[in-house]
Amino acid sequence: MAIYNEIKRTKTFMGKLKFGGDLLEELTSICEEKDICLGSTEALGAVQKARFGFYDQKARKYDFIEIDKPLEITKLIGNISLRDGKPMVHAHITLSDSQGNAFGGHLAPGTIVFACEFIINSYDGPDHIRDYDEQTGLPLWKI
Ligand code: ZN
Repeated sequence: MAIYNEIKRTKTFMGKLKFGGDLLEELTSICEEKDICLGSTEALGAVQKARFGFYDQKARKYDFIEIDKPLEITKLIGNISLRDGKPMVHAHITLSDSQGNAFGGHLAPGTIVFACEFIINSYDGPDHIRDYDEQTGLPLWKI
């Protein structure tokens, strides 16, 4: 059975990230700056290089993939919630190369911005706090 809450969108922030910044860290620092503890994000643009994870469900750990070349961000989608009392951006990203091949996964630090246009939505509603989930080994929402 799905577990969910009703939330209300309060504010939307729209902008661009700086050249050479770390994509995940830049989005996270905007959330910290604007005190966004519940929200969503999406973005597109291009990166100089990328790092993203694939969760090994048996081993219960992330394996990281690094691609050290320019790529398009065809889609970044994520949510914002609380982990250890601070905003955490959980984002998944799909990227494409010069041949149109697509790659993607769980966005990790180490993805460097070439150009990025983002939208962050701030929500008002019950806290979604991440905590260790026994069944998956992941920091999932306690709601
Ligand atoms: Zn993920």
